[in-house]
Amino acid sequence: MSTVSCEHFEEVADQIVRLYPELAAREGGGLQARVAALVNRLDDQFLKMAIDAGAEEIAIAEYVEKSLLVQAGYFESFPGEGLMEGAIGTRPPAACYQCYPQLSGKVLGESGLWTCVGTCGRNERETGVGRLRIFCMREIILLGSAAWVREQRARWLTTIARFARSLGLQVDLVPASDPFFGTGDAHGRKLVQQLKELKMEMRTRVGESIGLAIASFNLHETFFARRFQLRLRDGTDAYTGCVAFGLERWAMAMISKLGLAHALTVATEEL
Ligand code: AMP
Ligand code: ZN
Repeated sequence: MSTVSCEHFEEVADQIVRLYPELAAREGGGLQARVAALVNRLDDQFLKMAIDAGAEEIAIAEYVEKSLLVQAGYFESFPGEGLMEGAIGTRPPAACYQCYPQLSGKVLGESGLWTCVGTCGRNERETGVGRLRIFCMREIILLGSAAWVREQRARWLTTIARFARSLGLQVDLVPASDPFFGTGDAHGRKLVQQLKELKMEMRTRVGESIGLAIASFNLHETFFARRFQLRLRDGTDAYTGCVAFGLERWAMAMISKLGLAHALTVATEEL
């Protein structure tokens, strides 16, 4: 059973109050706890799908050392992207960064799946529906040969699209790119990312936002393998990919479509 330790549901609860004042009035002070319950039930479903597919769970921390993000090439890939830095430390901008060092130097076989969940932070410049500064992300990490990772990504695209529809959500799958605003190297990489369809997003309607990304399906080629020494049994650099779910956005999309009570019932049903 998932117990996402994310206690930062004020932001998402505030957005729900703004979008659905009548719901907030009905729920009174219980809204935040019920949204947290919905996030956890959704995460249970993603975790179950990952475990059923053979994934191993990896525990990650709430804060990271900046040196990890340097090693992961974050500052080259996302120049100008704001991090959430506080007195206690830096919030990771994505959950999967903390998995690669844990896999580094291990004998990884031919392929494997891992999963993790954690609190992420992004100092978003814009505010809008579902654009939170602190949010929970579940990820599934795919590692193997190029062909295996591509095939896995295609499988997860189908599985998650089916899951979203079973929850009553209408979704679109669109090629995307990470929103870096830099020029030069990062700009070039953005074009390559679009050209090779390295990033696919699953989008849905939430309130006035008609195309909010609730999940992304990413191919990293050997980018992380080279930075974290991820080698397959035959000694070659592993190809990696990840599937990332923004848990609050799934909760918001379901509330938007079904209302909170019905969303909780549907998210709790067996897959
Ligand atoms: P990305 O690494 O940008 O593909 O993000 C993975 C997923 O995290 C997205 O598909 C969203 O569901 C979620 N996400 C990203 N940024 C935010 C945000 N500012 N607030 C809430 N969820 C987010
Ligand atoms: Zn990732």
